Amino acid sequence: MRLPSIGPKTAQRLAYHLLNAPPEQVQEMIASLEGVLTQVTRCHRCGNYAEDAECPICSSPRRDRSTLCIVAQAKDIVAFERTGEYRGLYHVLGGLISPMDGKGPEDLSVDKLQERLQDEQFKEVVLATDPTVAGEATALYLEELLDEFEGDVSRLALGIPVGSDFEYTDEVTLGRALSYRQKLS
Ligand SMILES: [Zn+2]
Repeated sequence: MRLPSIGPKTAQRLAYHLLNAPPEQVQEMIASLEGVLTQVTRCHRCGNYAEDAECPICSSPRRDRSTLCIVAQAKDIVAFERTGEYRGLYHVLGGLISPMDGKGPEDLSVDKLQERLQDEQFKEVVLATDPTVAGEATALYLEELLDEFEGDVSRLALGIPVGSDFEYTDEVTLGRALSYRQKLS
């Protein structure tokens, strides 16, 4: 029940499942859980989860080192990687600016980001914070921070979900889709 979206009934079902599972399967799970504490750390470069000093993305020779995508959480990286559309590097902020929750820029890995912008030769920085109030506030802050950056600064397009109907799309989303429209030729 300590896990997200697991209620008492599901917890009970899982507990009974484990009681009847083959012992080697349970051992495997115990080892995996132990690994969370003993093997998983943070990539010293980008802040992604890693088993070594650098995560597999930062240490891969196949990544495009001229593009940096800034995300709020390490789990966002998984979402972007699933698209198969991005080949650059990432930087994990470790949260978003949210004055209501007492979270300011000093709580994010902004110093490390500035260090990277100086040391690594990025040509483009993509601001990929969530389209929420906190995400927008953070993107705005980063935009100002990147004022001196010589390369391109881009923002994720916000728009209409694939397979949806304009009639049922809320006006904020539709408005954003219009203002972030792309030139085709
Ligand atoms: Zn990394």
